[in-house]
Amino acid sequence: MALRPKNKRERPGGAPAPAGLRRRRTSKLRANSGRPDKLDVQELSRKEKTHFNKLQKRLRRNVGNAIVDYNMIEQGDRVMVCLSGGKDSYGMLDILLSLRQNAPVDFELVAVNLDQKQPGFPEEILPAYLAGLGVPYYILEKDTYSIVREVIPEGKTTCGLCSRLRRGSLYGFAREIGASKIALGHHRDDIVETLFLNMFFNGKLKAMPPKLLSDDRLNVVIRPLAYCREKDLDRYARYKDFPIIPCNLCGSQENLQRVQVKNMLAAWEREYPGRTESIFRSICNIAPSQLGDARLFDFAALRIDPALADAPAIAEDTELYFPAINVVNL
Ligand code: SF4
Repeated sequence: MALRPKNKRERPGGAPAPAGLRRRRTSKLRANSGRPDKLDVQELSRKEKTHFNKLQKRLRRNVGNAIVDYNMIEQGDRVMVCLSGGKDSYGMLDILLSLRQNAPVDFELVAVNLDQKQPGFPEEILPAYLAGLGVPYYILEKDTYSIVREVIPEGKTTCGLCSRLRRGSLYGFAREIGASKIALGHHRDDIVETLFLNMFFNGKLKAMPPKLLSDDRLNVVIRPLAYCREKDLDRYARYKDFPIIPCNLCGSQENLQRVQVKNMLAAWEREYPGRTESIFRSICNIAPSQLGDARLFDFAALRIDPALADAPAIAEDTELYFPAINVVNL
């Protein structure tokens, strides 16, 4: 794996640390870059500005709550923030930088992008953006694109292998730079989609946890956006005019099964607003005794308690009326 640019001082991104680590970003919104879907901040009405402020507060609150609930970031952590160039990872870095200013603990943020050598990858965009922020960063180069093309037959979805190779490279690099946490930009909707994908196609009730110890127990992965809605991140990215790099440069079709699940959830959400949030909350509120996994709950040991043999069959409840049961001998 190549590292770009070469860093003579063993500091990431050439940013002057530790001063660079503490630099505050004061500009809230940037001017219109001509993108047709970009919301022009200069032209925002007062109502729109209020909307933006609320959106920003909500995202910060969601990220802050997730960090606290799962003890994602601790004193002295070096958090490696993985940037793909998509809206979610830009949003994650932006919100973490802002939260760090008032955080009760000191922690370090290091941005890392893996350039997978997809044809047409605009390699100047992320370094320019990160240098502008003053955040320490690394750009890694690894040609996983060629590996994926070689291994996966034409016409098949390549995202699974591509993501595994990316994850392996990033996990290894996190250890090289002594990162104590790896932050990934998956949000609430990604997590719910993964739950259904695993149920529909793998027969497993599992999603993506907000915090995870890697199988080799050498990395802790955190997902600070776990409580954030995708549509909030999408809108935030447009307000902030992040220089988005599309994830289709490889020419791969987006994972069809994930698209189907996404569409299913969107249709539910239209018909029953709040359903995705409810499903997400169910992931965080599990009752193993009401499911069927004997590894999680000792169903085999369930017995009537002999000490309660003479107790009324149903606890007294003055609200309920239970008609007497007549025993009829036929
Ligand atoms: S769309 Fe391409 S680059 Fe993105 S995950 Fe899939 S294979 Fe990898």
